[in-house]
Amino acid sequence: MKFEQLPTPCYVVDEGLVEKNLKILNGLMKRTGCKIVLAQKAFSMFTLYPLIAQYLDGTTASGLYEARLAHEEMSGKENHVFSPAYREDEIDEIVSMCDHIIFNSFSQLEKYKNKVLRASKHIGLRINPECSTQEGHAIYDPCAPGSRFGVTMANFRPELMDGVSGLHFHTHCQQNSDALETTLYAVIEKFGPWLSQMEWINFGGGHHITREDYDIARLEKCINLMQDKYGLQVYLEPGEAVALNAGYLVTSVLDTVQNGIDIAILDTSATCHMPDVLEMPYRPPLFGSGEVGEKPYLYRLGGQTCLAGDVIGDYSFDHPLTCGDRLVFGDMAIYSMVKNTTFNGMALPAIAIKEKNGDCRVVREFGYEDFKMRLAHQTIPTQKRVLATSIQN
Ligand SMILES: *Cc1c(COP(=O)(O)O)cnc(C)c1O
Repeated sequence: MKFEQLPTPCYVVDEGLVEKNLKILNGLMKRTGCKIVLAQKAFSMFTLYPLIAQYLDGTTASGLYEARLAHEEMSGKENHVFSPAYREDEIDEIVSMCDHIIFNSFSQLEKYKNKVLRASKHIGLRINPECSTQEGHAIYDPCAPGSRFGVTMANFRPELMDGVSGLHFHTHCQQNSDALETTLYAVIEKFGPWLSQMEWINFGGGHHITREDYDIARLEKCINLMQDKYGLQVYLEPGEAVALNAGYLVTSVLDTVQNGIDIAILDTSATCHMPDVLEMPYRPPLFGSGEVGEKPYLYRLGGQTCLAGDVIGDYSFDHPLTCGDRLVFGDMAIYSMVKNTTFNGMALPAIAIKEKNGDCRVVREFGYEDFKMRLAHQTIPTQKRVLATSIQN
């Protein structure tokens, strides 16, 4: 179907734009010899896993379910996992499916090390270089004081490093390669003596490699440094960069109201369908719109839920908005469908793919059952229950 015919609300992943990102990442892999895996927590739309597998080395997971998703949908590629702590009732399955198991502490390492070694899998240790390179987003800073992520230099136990083949750090969020360079110096200063005893190092995610202004040459220098000086295999595990600017959320205007400002109510919700708009927070791009004051018709765009703050932002337009108008938000492939909720009984947006030839294909639609099934045990299927009550009456 055509883009204009998609149901709303609908997330649309643009295959051509994902592939464009993958080619940039693959070029980096080829030039440097680094390995890149997809951080599934940002983007797990597995219809595109076969495409991603053509360009990247595999995936990384935040735990059992993402690891299993990769095992099922991208089999044969590398399957990495990191969790702040693993559950005893999940570790065996994780070890059976994953190749790289990264621990957050020496106590977790001691607890599970032998299981991993017996299965001949790689053990990694997450370190905390205590080097904050971002301002403003404390909730996205794993180096913030009191952070639970990674072993700090003060807590490092060299005598327990037996069996560990790699170090992992993840300290960035939407950053350029200057932040990585700064971090690498901190890593070398604090953990340098152990680097040459390792086989690999994982730079984590948060590298906005596919953003237009990203300095790839500096990233290559960072990768080469770790390869040449310490003989390490370098891994990167970006999430955002894989599907950055490669998706949309298509919505419709349901009503317009006035309260000192013109307000449009959309068939979507910031809190349910684009939670990072409120959590980060940020103002998502909207095709055909301008900043406040840029175009003549200004609207505050809000969602269908009861939350007063369920507001996407203020946008200006060339024409007044009317009921049924379709609005297309940009950069909606990442941290959108993986984070959405059915708060207020909101329906989940459909998921579609825009193929390279421009055709669109809906791959998943959601309904009432998807809302209900998460809230309690369902004794009788809904259809039968409706029938049963109508017979009783
Ligand atoms: C979130 C995360 C990533 C991916 O981060 P992006 O910002 O999406 O690139 C990679 N590794 C770890 C450990 C993470 O927590």
